Amino acid sequence: MKPLGPIPAGFDVIDGELAIGGCPASALVEEAGGTPLFIYSADLIRRRVADLRSVMPERLHVHYAMKANPYGPVLELMGTLVDGFDIASGGELRTALAAGLSAERISFAGPGKRDEELAAAIFAGVTLNLESEAEAGRALAIAERHGATPRLAIRVNPDFELRGSGMKMGGGAKPFGLDAERVPALAREVIAAGAEWRGLHIFAGSQALDAQAIIETQGNVLTLAAALSEEIGVALPHLNMGGGFGIPYFHGDRPLDIAAVGAALDDRFAALPDALVSTEFAIELGRYLVGEAGVYLTRIVDRKVSHGAVYLVTDGGLHHQLAASGNFGTVVRRNYPAAIASGFAAEPVEEANIVGCLCTPLDRLADQALLPHAEAGDLVAIFCAGAYGASASPAAFLGQGPAREVLV
Ligand SMILES: *Cc1c(COP(=O)(O)O)cnc(C)c1O
Repeated sequence: MKPLGPIPAGFDVIDGELAIGGCPASALVEEAGGTPLFIYSADLIRRRVADLRSVMPERLHVHYAMKANPYGPVLELMGTLVDGFDIASGGELRTALAAGLSAERISFAGPGKRDEELAAAIFAGVTLNLESEAEAGRALAIAERHGATPRLAIRVNPDFELRGSGMKMGGGAKPFGLDAERVPALAREVIAAGAEWRGLHIFAGSQALDAQAIIETQGNVLTLAAALSEEIGVALPHLNMGGGFGIPYFHGDRPLDIAAVGAALDDRFAALPDALVSTEFAIELGRYLVGEAGVYLTRIVDRKVSHGAVYLVTDGGLHHQLAASGNFGTVVRRNYPAAIASGFAAEPVEEANIVGCLCTPLDRLADQALLPHAEAGDLVAIFCAGAYGASASPAAFLGQGPAREVLV
């Protein structure tokens, strides 16, 4: 037996079934036209943002890192809830603008931005978070050729990282950002070239559940930003402090104590160094805002037994849920929270393996899980599916095609 991850709060039972946003899973599937289906709850997203804002300093802007979930209706909803958007490609830029998000609220980070992407961002009025001196040179040249004033920030590769981070994105040699000691020279150059100076972006890691680790990192970020802006010699207009707020995916994971993070940030904002007194601050969050608000529903196609082990074979799989299958940035595979949605209130009675329909042993959704009895036709729910699901999985693999998505 292997434990399942904790089912996020906010889901109900109606007539013995999992209900999302007050609607039973089977009705949602019928309305959407079938499985596999991602359902995102607008209510849970709204609640998440409100809870976050209630404990964070008012001065702190909340940005949404749209790579977590770029589904159009989710973006439109986020447009009403957050202050800014962080994108990482020209494709995300098009998606963001198509969702009606205004360019002044968007910043564009990511290594390897092509000239067309830089040009599109500059013409739209999006802030570019520069990842290297060469990229800065290309952005300035494109802007000059077209008589445009680019809005430029610099992404810093800090010498520290977010402790306990699921994905390390700072500390030592990295393809992201500019090594801290080279930032002041480039910043002065960019300002001298007539760009609109938009400050610094310091992202040190992702998926942290330890409030102390985040508090420590935010302290390091503020110290570094103050030192760099003193060296640059110009007040810092904006600081994207990164994010890294995690969500509990696995058995034993505890939710992040955001009240503790907010209180520590309150204290720090009350005692800012001179270089940062008039700075606008933002955090950028992806999974924390949307991850727990999403459920992936898939239908059992076959129930079979092999050498005594029960297999529930579904019409979904890793082509939509690479992360839940354990093949996206994890070393040891562990079970995401999962349930038999059509028997959400039923007693668990057997050990079963939930697998996908792809012809590869990698396609596992839950291993040796204690579940209620389920048959072909029953619905399976995989939770924590609101981030890095549909858009971060190989939907073309084995010709199965994409899942449906719906915001309810
Ligand atoms: C991916 C990413 C994020 C979002 O990460 P989450 O873990 O989803 O919060 C934020 N900022 C940057 C720079 C990223 O690359």
